[in-house]
Amino acid sequence: MENYYIKTNRTFTFIRRNAWIITLLVAIGGLYEPKLGLLVLLVMAGLLTTAFFKGRYWCGNFCPHSSLFDRIFMPISRNKKIPSILKSKPMVIAILAFFFYNFSRKIIAISSLWGTYDFFDKLGAIFSRTYLMVLLLGGILAVTINARSWCQFCPMGTMQKLSYSLGKALGITKKFEKKITIEAKEKCHACGKCARVCPFQLTPYLEFSDKNQFDNINCIRCATCIENCPANILSLKTEEEALELIKNTSLEGYENRQKIKAKIIDIKDLAKDIREFTFSFLSPKKVDYKAGQFILVKIQDNPKSFRAYSISSYDEEGRQVKVIVKKVERGYGTNIIFNSFKVGDEVELEGPMGNHLVVDPTEEKLLFVANGIGITPFIGLSKWVLEKHPAVKSVILLNGQRYKEDLLYNDYFKDLEKEHSSFQYIPVLSREKLPNFKKGYVTNVLKDLDLEGYKVYMCGTRRMIEDSYRLLLDKGVSKEDISYESESRIDLKKKDSLVRAS
Ligand SMILES: Cc1cc2nc3c(=O)[nH]c(=O)nc-3n(C[C@H](O)[C@H](O)[C@H](O)COP(=O)(O)OP(=O)(O)OC[C@H]3O[C@@H](n4cnc5c(N)ncnc54)[C@H](O)[C@@H]3O)c2cc1C
Ligand code: SF4
Ligand code: SF4
Repeated sequence: MENYYIKTNRTFTFIRRNAWIITLLVAIGGLYEPKLGLLVLLVMAGLLTTAFFKGRYWCGNFCPHSSLFDRIFMPISRNKKIPSILKSKPMVIAILAFFFYNFSRKIIAISSLWGTYDFFDKLGAIFSRTYLMVLLLGGILAVTINARSWCQFCPMGTMQKLSYSLGKALGITKKFEKKITIEAKEKCHACGKCARVCPFQLTPYLEFSDKNQFDNINCIRCATCIENCPANILSLKTEEEALELIKNTSLEGYENRQKIKAKIIDIKDLAKDIREFTFSFLSPKKVDYKAGQFILVKIQDNPKSFRAYSISSYDEEGRQVKVIVKKVERGYGTNIIFNSFKVGDEVELEGPMGNHLVVDPTEEKLLFVANGIGITPFIGLSKWVLEKHPAVKSVILLNGQRYKEDLLYNDYFKDLEKEHSSFQYIPVLSREKLPNFKKGYVTNVLKDLDLEGYKVYMCGTRRMIEDSYRLLLDKGVSKEDISYESESRIDLKKKDSLVRAS
């Protein structure tokens, strides 16, 4: 069984990347120069103040130990599930009580030195030893269990929660605190990726409030879930901003989302590690969907998780759909699908969803750009446009794959090309040079196309979409004429600045 949790890059700001040096300076340097331990007083003041306004923000953004756990220990961590005992209330209270008892005992012991230089040396030594202890114990837990195991019961984390609760009771946090916010629950794929990458192993997607916010007091606002959500629907927002977002978010493409019971009636191997699944709807028996949408397929109950798959083809009556699934190396969901889905099984689906690849058939010229498994939505979409909307003057499909054998539905597309003079099918192979096939990436072909008046729809890898988007803008295609969908999160707002700079 694949590991549920994914090691992923945190969004490392300068502080998060380098703050671990402070830990070493205080913990190791403090053995030689005890006054270095006094730096911890600044750390404590910082964390208690930020917590009063913003919850455990410190833990996700400034804490030197967290930087050490994420940067140094995470790459060698086993990244296992954090045992619930480490998160339990008795554990958290016991560690806080032990910390205060120990700390007070040591302070009382040195109190007779108050007013002398020696006092500050001894006080610094107390802090520096504590830092060293956290480094050693936290480090062992980080490697053997999970990078942020220590943080589950860290006394500084508990003190932040107390400070936060005070700020909340006084009504201060409401104005300053930014929480993980979902644009619309209807748009969530329930893929659980936000939970799989969360350093604290929290489950935001199962807990969003009526205001679409994640209220969990343990959230450290590290933004890892935001960076990894494939639907790109998460952000950090104040309550006021969240309510504004609810008002301004369009649910177009998601308004017909529903729970569907279906039966697997066929499984076909299309290529190595690529299978086509045909689902026949049981309840409701008929589902309305548009070409270019996707559905969710449930892979497990605990925690409830789905995977999103483009509808590759469907019957006219809306009683069946096909999806094509590529098995991903070390992929959690695809391993479940490939190992346990059998013909005759009942499965739970949700959908239909999505509007990025729902084509406006009043357009005269359409360009579809795909690579890898991103070809799947264009199987049904090309046919639908060509057969149902003959007024569309030109449809070009660029299909980038590595080898000829990776070209799914190749004969089908060639047949469509023979039947419809308005359709141009251009397979492009990156690893194989063959007569009648373009060699290279889709961008190599894209750069030579005359794209005047084309509306562009893309589906595929993040790299392909980012490169093609940049090229399309350079060729004068406007942003409004480009739609795309990818299994990875793509933030072309960030890319815009890249486009301008390059
Ligand atoms: C709108 C949409 C439509 C889609 N349509 C299709 C489609 O038609 N066909 C299709 O095949 N897919 C499609 N996908 C992708 C699909 O939803 C799944 O993401 C895909 O099947 C992989 O799921 P998985 O659980 O097996 O992979 P995951 O386990 O989620 O793995 C994802 C990536 O993380 C890496 N990874 C996994 N575990 C670890 C680890 N422990 N450490 C480091 N890296 C790790 C994997 O190597 C992989 O690269 C679509 C996605 C979206 C958002
Ligand atoms: S929910 Fe998101 S922001 Fe909060 S701790 Fe988890 S990954 Fe970080
Ligand atoms: S990561 Fe997946 S489950 Fe989490 S919010 Fe995004 S789409 Fe939903």
